[in-house]
Amino acid sequence: MHTALRLGVHAAGRIRRINPACRIVFHGLYAELNATHLLGELADVVLSGEAEGALVALAERLDRGEPPSPAHGPTLERLPFPVPSREGLPALTRYASLAHAGRHVLAGYVEASRGCLHMCLHCPIPPVYDGRFFAVPRDAVLDDVRQLVAAGAQHVTFGDPDFLNGPGHALKLVRALHAEFPALTYDCTTKVEHIVRHRGLIPELATTGCLFVVSAVESLSDVVLANLEKGHTRADVQVALDVLRRAGIPLRPSFVPFTPWAGIDDYVDLLDWVERERLVDQVDPVQFTIRLLVPPGSLLLSRPAIRPFLGELDPAGFSYRWTHPDPRMDALQRDVSSLAEQAARLDEDPALTIGRIRALAYARAGRPDAAGRFRPPAPERSIPPRLTEPWFC
Ligand code: SF4
Repeated sequence: MHTALRLGVHAAGRIRRINPACRIVFHGLYAELNATHLLGELADVVLSGEAEGALVALAERLDRGEPPSPAHGPTLERLPFPVPSREGLPALTRYASLAHAGRHVLAGYVEASRGCLHMCLHCPIPPVYDGRFFAVPRDAVLDDVRQLVAAGAQHVTFGDPDFLNGPGHALKLVRALHAEFPALTYDCTTKVEHIVRHRGLIPELATTGCLFVVSAVESLSDVVLANLEKGHTRADVQVALDVLRRAGIPLRPSFVPFTPWAGIDDYVDLLDWVERERLVDQVDPVQFTIRLLVPPGSLLLSRPAIRPFLGELDPAGFSYRWTHPDPRMDALQRDVSSLAEQAARLDEDPALTIGRIRALAYARAGRPDAAGRFRPPAPERSIPPRLTEPWFC
């Protein structure tokens, strides 16, 4: 999302140079949070939330020759949710696909809900949706999946911020999907708290074709989790992992290892946990590089815990600057980011990259001897299903 805004700003700059008179609209969570900066630079209008109706109204206004109104603020009225038209979109071969059992399978993206009921402090959704979520009607989602299957999709990725915000809705949907397309597989994202609370539903996700679950573990430090008001503890992560394992569904965790409250020992501990739990092939190396973002409007700004570390707003970076109390952490974050970036460019085995990140972390923690315990991954091993593009914020 943050990455998309950076790409969007770059594209908008080029578009503005080619056609200085064209209207540029930014849409999305980070666009809303950074609206002041965007409207002062490149954007004519910023839309967010349930904004499709507002976008149509804007187009009609421009058609009538009226200027756009730059006023922004999320739209949070329920939309009618017609089946989306996919005409004119690139073929599915141009998008990320599913890598599974040595094959690449075409994947499609749908959302069964938008927004989120929860208020995790580091997430860009609560400042925009304010704890609201909107279920997309089941028939609209099913019709959309039919279009995707007709276009060749054999896997669907549910892009809902949290698939289990409406567990009844989610379950009825995947039952209907599986009844109509028994060979179709899917993945979804849901929070640790939901996996634990709805553990009774998880086996049915597996039997209806769920290949993996993405979950924002973020950290194993209870101090960090409390400061993010994430709604789970380290012990809950372990329970969620066990619930998914019993159902035969691999967990793909996401992390925010670089926060002001996690030190080098927490970082090493996270890497050790991933190795110990045999999750190395279920984590994208980029997850070990993620640094806490504090965009304007972030709920984190309302809590005292962040204040001692907070610097100036960097408007063009779409985030406040913050500094770790241990300078080794800021340096490590820069170094693991460039290591992971280079490795991705060379298409290195992600497990090997994680091993190198681990060796670097051990060295920075003053324990270079322990790094030698890492065993290189066997090239012919079986790798759990994943999408070909890593997910990160
Ligand atoms: S992190 Fe997940 S559960 Fe928390 S507010 Fe964001 S989408 Fe919702």
